[in-house]
Amino acid sequence: MGKLTPMMQQYMDIKNKNKDSVLFFRLGDFYEMFFEDAITASKELEITLTGRECGQKEKAPMCGVPYHSADGYIAKLVSKGYKVAICEQVEDAQEAKGIVKRDIVRIVTPGTITDSKMLDEKDNNYLASAYLSEKGMGISYVDITTGELYTTEKRNVDFNLIRNSMVDELAKIKPREVIVNKYLYDTRIVKDIEDKFNSTVNEYHEWIYNTNESKKVIKNHFKVLNLEGYGLGDSDYSIKSTGALLQYLEETQKTSLKHINNISQYSIDNFMILDINTRRNLEITETIRDKTKKGSLLWVLDKTATSMGARMLKKWIEQPLLNKSLINERLNGIESLINNLILMGDIKENLKEIYDIERLMGRISYGSSNARDMIALKNSINVLPQVRELLIESNCDYFKKLATNIDLLPDIYELINKSIVDDPPISIKDGGIIKKGYNDSLDELITASTEGKKWLSQLETTEKSRTGIKSLKVGFNKVFGYYIEVTKSNLNLVPDNYTRKQTLSNSERYITPELKEMESKILGAEEKSTILEYKLFNEIRDLIRVEIERIQNTARIISNIDALNSLAQVAYKNNYIRPNINDKGIIEIKNGRHPVVEKVLDGDMFIPNNTLLDKESNRLNVITGPNMAGKSTYMRQVAIINLMAQIGSFVPAEYANISLVDRIFTRVGASDDLSQGQSTFMVEMSEVANILNNSSSDSLVILDEIGRGTSTYDGLSIAWAVIEYIGDKNNIGAKTLFSTHYHELTELEGSLDGVKNYKITVKEDGEDIIFLRKVVRGEADKSYGIEVANLAGVPSQVISRAKMILKELEKSDINYQDIDKELIVHEEVALDSNSLTASEENQIDMFNFKKQEIIEMIKDIELINI
Ligand code: ADP
Repeated sequence: MGKLTPMMQQYMDIKNKNKDSVLFFRLGDFYEMFFEDAITASKELEITLTGRECGQKEKAPMCGVPYHSADGYIAKLVSKGYKVAICEQVEDAQEAKGIVKRDIVRIVTPGTITDSKMLDEKDNNYLASAYLSEKGMGISYVDITTGELYTTEKRNVDFNLIRNSMVDELAKIKPREVIVNKYLYDTRIVKDIEDKFNSTVNEYHEWIYNTNESKKVIKNHFKVLNLEGYGLGDSDYSIKSTGALLQYLEETQKTSLKHINNISQYSIDNFMILDINTRRNLEITETIRDKTKKGSLLWVLDKTATSMGARMLKKWIEQPLLNKSLINERLNGIESLINNLILMGDIKENLKEIYDIERLMGRISYGSSNARDMIALKNSINVLPQVRELLIESNCDYFKKLATNIDLLPDIYELINKSIVDDPPISIKDGGIIKKGYNDSLDELITASTEGKKWLSQLETTEKSRTGIKSLKVGFNKVFGYYIEVTKSNLNLVPDNYTRKQTLSNSERYITPELKEMESKILGAEEKSTILEYKLFNEIRDLIRVEIERIQNTARIISNIDALNSLAQVAYKNNYIRPNINDKGIIEIKNGRHPVVEKVLDGDMFIPNNTLLDKESNRLNVITGPNMAGKSTYMRQVAIINLMAQIGSFVPAEYANISLVDRIFTRVGASDDLSQGQSTFMVEMSEVANILNNSSSDSLVILDEIGRGTSTYDGLSIAWAVIEYIGDKNNIGAKTLFSTHYHELTELEGSLDGVKNYKITVKEDGEDIIFLRKVVRGEADKSYGIEVANLAGVPSQVISRAKMILKELEKSDINYQDIDKELIVHEEVALDSNSLTASEENQIDMFNFKKQEIIEMIKDIELINI
């Protein structure tokens, strides 16, 4: 082993401190990667792998990318889940003694991307930090492009609850990257997070999860003496996760993050809980099939004018409220806009002028903003007075409250207005940014250079007439500076004070002492003025940076208004109505529609339907009807209308009285969890288990065809028992919509309190059926499976054979139905008696045992028949 070259030694020292990142090592105009990193990068980025002498026998594998196009390569690696450490020269090469000093200036990770090309402007990019112990959990998350930092915790409850809260909360946040403590890293949760959210999860230093250490980090970041001001005084779990988060930012970003200037602490209990399956099934922000926004609820509701508003609306949709007066506040806002369409339009027109101030402030904080950002900020501030005026004129207290909190930022406007030219260049290092009149020294320098240039242009004329050379020209090049050019045919006329500097094929170039003097004046002034402009720009940026909090507050109010205005436009355009919000557990919807399906039914009319659920006799609706009748659309529609009401939106219906529900659960269709090696049935049952274990009488539960994944009688028994458990007041008593193709379940109406039967109507038309899509009381008499198969184009030979088999099967099924009816009668007796004697209980146990035996027997018979 030879000794490494000094440069390679420097590389190794830095690499050893950053083992988990791909190291981009700056050498001249390139970022080079070596050894393992080079092999990884050449593969992932499809660039050529070469080698470089490193002092050892074998060359070091190497590959590189030009620094000016590095962003794209970094983006590609980060999007594949890698971290990229950027190592720059940190001293001037000319001043360096020996090898130039180099150091890491930033580590780019999936959760800390700031390059706008890599970000979705209508979505946040979150980095989360999660801490779990047996006694509690804390989650903190930040969007470093906007500066938002949130934290929550849950503790002193059952571990399962803690664990579930963590998973549900992460499902809401959908972070791109999560750092976790060791205990959490060793649980299954991490695998879930990685698979379900496509996030990068890494274990972080254990020492930071010591409360005192994390407190220190937080206090240091916010420059405060205690954390009471953030409401974090004794929130140990939030403190741990926030401390880790800030420490991680410090380590990777290596720059001041002044725009992260507040911690918003929230309680999970203030928002409706939606687990990951429900978010997915209801297609709240993206579709199940291709994970696009198009086709989701967000797609219908988002008519925002700014990207800040779009992000705010998404947040609202992701966390429906539980507080009636907060919901009504938003509904009031929407109502007042709908009652004043001119106001609605005017607000939108003004908001369109407002730029993404939140992300702009992020760039100012990072020091990566340019003069065009300042102009965008100025133009945004320019419309604030109109927006405020409009809101004050509105008839709505909520808007008036928002309006009075808008800071019009006149000082910032003035500052930018007097300092930055209206149409500045992108670069901040080449001058041309600062307005005349802002800085005296700059004005003098600019005058000097423009006057010099004027002198030069006059020089050409005076020299022409002095020498009599008509073709004489004054020009400039980078090597020789200013010169006077004379063509060869006129050389005899060149005066004595010209000194020859350069010979070309057709001409000679000269200089004069006066020309050189003026040249140094002009060039000196230009160089000095660009340096001064850069300095002034940075000063202006710093002046604005100090006001970040005020600007962000205003940005947040604007986002709120934009989100409300969006909901109002959608409500008006699609004929939504204001829901009444109750806390009595009643959900009553007249002529409700599914907001997304009604949009995509191109030309076809969506058939509206009614719904009635309450805490008494309408707790559980059993919904029957053939496949394709519209059962699952109907059930999702009810869930979505409820969810919309709780985000404070109007809803697609003619009338809606909506109960505040604490959670919505859905179990719909087959999940895509098959990839994880679980059978469809196993997945279905674990989802059912989750619902049965976590729902309450205040929950809304959607169960679509439970028990489908196993044999008929298994499935039926499970479905039956689930209904009893979830519908019964003595157990859960949640508001439930239960669709099924087991007609036997309709027999529960009348026997189990709170159960009502509904069917979705179809009309028979000879061999065919017509879907009427109307939900009415009663039970479907037939399943029409064969008719639907016929509609789908199954060959007629198969259809007629199926009809024959069905007839046979129906004959043999009669026995079962009769037995079962008898069982219900007995059970009803049992259920009706409030207090049972021991012997009666014994009888019931015996009876259930018998029932199970009979079901087993029937199963056997069926197997033999087949
Ligand atoms: P099921 O769950 O009963 O099999 P779906 O809910 O999947 O049926 O509905 C089948 C199709 O019928 C959907 O693709 C939808 O386009 C259409 N549909 C459902 N409900 C309605 C309705 N109320 N009005 C019009 N079309 C509907």
